[in-house]
Amino acid sequence: MNKKYDLIVVGGGHAGVEAAHAAYRLGLKCALITFDSSKVGQMSCNPAIGGLGKTHLVREIDALDGIMGLATDMSGIQYRTLNTRKGQAVQALRVQCDRDLYKSAIQEILSGTSVEIIEGEVIDLVLDSGQVNGVITDKETLLSKKTVITTGTFLNGVMFTGEEKKKGGRVGDNSSIPLSKKLYAMKLPMGRLKTGTPARIKLSSLDIKKMEEQKGETPTPHMSLQKEIKHQKQLSCFVTRTTTATHEIINKNIHLSAMYSGNIVGIGPRYCPSIEDKLFKFKNKDSHQIFIEPEGINKDLVYPNGISTSLPKDVQEDFIKSIPGLESSVIEEFGYAVEYDFIDPRTLKQTLETKYLEGLYFAGQINGTTGYEEAAAQGLIAGTNASLKILEKEPFILGRDEAYIGVLIDDLTTHGVTEPYRMFTSRAEHRLLLGQDTAEKRLLEKGNKIGLVDSNRLKNHLKKEEDFLNFLNTDLSIKINSFINKDGERVPLKEKKSIKDVLKRPEVDPYATYNAPNEKIKLYERAFNEIKYEGYIKKQKREIEKTKKLNSKKIPANINYNNIPGLSNEVVERLTKTQPETIGSASRIEGVTPAAIDLILIKIKKAETKSEKVNA
Ligand code: FAD
Repeated sequence: MNKKYDLIVVGGGHAGVEAAHAAYRLGLKCALITFDSSKVGQMSCNPAIGGLGKTHLVREIDALDGIMGLATDMSGIQYRTLNTRKGQAVQALRVQCDRDLYKSAIQEILSGTSVEIIEGEVIDLVLDSGQVNGVITDKETLLSKKTVITTGTFLNGVMFTGEEKKKGGRVGDNSSIPLSKKLYAMKLPMGRLKTGTPARIKLSSLDIKKMEEQKGETPTPHMSLQKEIKHQKQLSCFVTRTTTATHEIINKNIHLSAMYSGNIVGIGPRYCPSIEDKLFKFKNKDSHQIFIEPEGINKDLVYPNGISTSLPKDVQEDFIKSIPGLESSVIEEFGYAVEYDFIDPRTLKQTLETKYLEGLYFAGQINGTTGYEEAAAQGLIAGTNASLKILEKEPFILGRDEAYIGVLIDDLTTHGVTEPYRMFTSRAEHRLLLGQDTAEKRLLEKGNKIGLVDSNRLKNHLKKEEDFLNFLNTDLSIKINSFINKDGERVPLKEKKSIKDVLKRPEVDPYATYNAPNEKIKLYERAFNEIKYEGYIKKQKREIEKTKKLNSKKIPANINYNNIPGLSNEVVERLTKTQPETIGSASRIEGVTPAAIDLILIKIKKAETKSEKVNA
C-alpha cells in the first residue's frame, strides 16, 4: 500500500518548510520529501536574513504565522537596521545568523508539528488524467491530493569553478536530474539561470585590525513579532575593500571565469553580481566593499560578502590575498557558480498552481527568484493555497496594495523573469502602506480568517491597537502652546494645539517636544511616524481606490484592437489573443504599457459617448 497524504512538498529549503508548515497549520497531513533531512532549512549562500525589501517579506511571512522570522531570532548574531536616514517605509532590519543554528531552529520548529519528513529523491510524478496525484521517489510511491515543488537550485544543477564543472545543486549536494527531465517532458516552459557564492575563509587567518568593525544595533531588535525570543551572543562584522592589485589579478584571468568562458548560459542576479561582473560593469571603480560576516558563534569561518566568483581556485586564492586583512587567508571552501533549470512563472496562477496541471504547485528559486525570503514567501502562498483547495475553500491571494508578497507573486506570474528576481521596496507602487512594521496590521486578520493565524495572537494584536488608539486620544490629545524644532529652538503657537496635530509639522523634533513616559516610548514612536506620513498614506489609499475602479472597467467583447490607432502590432496581437475582460486584466498582459491602456480607454469612452448620443 502506498502512503497517502493531503499535501506533498518536494524540497526542504526555505520555500518547502514554509509550505509544509502552512499545511500543518491548516490541519492537513503533509509530507516533506528531501534529499537529506539533516539539511532541512539549510542556508545555501550567505547566512543572513532580511535587507531592503526582503525584511518586508519576512515580516509578512511572520504576520501569517510563518517560521522564517522565528528561526532568524533563534539564530541571529547581529542585527542592523538599514536605510535609517530614509523614511520608515523603506527601512529594513538585516540579521546575520549562525548558519547551523538557523537550520536547527527550522528543524526544531518543524519537529513540533505533524509534518512528516521523508528522505529521498523525487524522480517522477504520479499523473492521472491531467492531474498530479503524488510523487515517485527513488524508494517508493507516495500519493497526495496536491503537490508543491520547491527544488531551488537543484534541477539539473551544475556547479562551476573555473574550468571545473560538477553536477550538484549546491556544494556537497546532488543535482536533481530525473525530475528536471520529467518537467521538460511535460512541456512546461523552462530556462536556465545561475547564481554564485564566494569562498569561505577561516576567521583565525584574518587580520581584522586592518578592517573597519561594524557592531550590531543596541538595544537588539527582533525580526519576529510573534514572540520575543532570547537573543544569541551578538558578534561584529568587518568591512574591507578590494584593491587595484585585486582588480589586476581578476582582469588578467577573467577569461578563466566560468561565466566569461562561455561555459554558463544562464543569466545571473543583477543585484548580487559576482566580482567578475562588478569589474566588468563598473570599469572606472577602483575598489569594491567587502563585508566579512561571521558564519556562526563557535565557528572559525567567515563569509566574505561581495566577492562571489567562479574563477579557478588558484586565481581566487591570489585575489583574496590581495585584499587588506585577508593576506594570510586560509580558504576552507572555494567560491563557485551554479546553473540550474527554472520554470517560467507566467505558467502559474496567483495561487502558484500551474495553469496546465491540476494539483501541481511551484514555489521558490525554481520560479526564477533569488533569495531565502522570496522563496519562503512563495512557499507560504503555495502551501496555503494547495491546502485551501484541498479544503474546498477560496484561494488566498494578496493584492499589490496589501503586501510585498502580493507584489512578488503578481510580478512573477504576470511579467515572468529575465534574470533571478530579487525583491526591492521600489518594486511596490504603494510602499508607504507596506512598511516592515505594519505587516501585522495588514495581514493578521486576513490570516486568521483562513485559519493560518492563531486567534490568541490576533486578540493580543487587537488589544495593542486599542491601547494605541487610547494613547492617541488621551496622552497625545493634550494641548500645548509651543513645540521644539529640529534646531532645538522653542517655537510658540498662535493658538493651543494637540500634540498629535503639532506632530504633523515636519520641523518638529518629536523627542524634544514631548517627553513620553518610558513604558509608552514605543507607542509614541509609532504615533509620530504614522502622523508624519498620514497625508501621503491617505493620498495613496485614494489612488488605490481610483485604480481599483479603473481596473474593474469592462472592455466590450466586440472591441477590435486593430482599429485603435497607436497600438503596436505586438500589443494588438497579444490583446486579440488574450481577449481581456477588464482594463485590469489588459494592463497585466506582458508588453501592454500604460500608454496602450490609455488608448484603449479613449476608444471605450468614444464608443460609450456615441451610443449615448444614438440612444438620446
Ligand atoms: P533551496 O534552498 O535550494 O532548497 C531546495 C530543496 O529541494 C533542498 O532541500 C533539496 O534537497 C531539495 N530537492 C531538490 N531536488 C529534489 C528532489 N528531486 N527530491 C527531493 N528533494 C529535492 N540568494 C541570494 O539572495 N543571494 C545570493 O547571492 C545567492 N547566492 C547563491 C549561491 C549559491 C551557490 C546557491 C546554491 C544559492 C544562492 N542563493 C542566493 C539562493 C538561495 O540559496 C536560494 O534563493 C534559496 O535557498 C532558495 O530556497 P528554495 O527553498 O527555493 O530552494
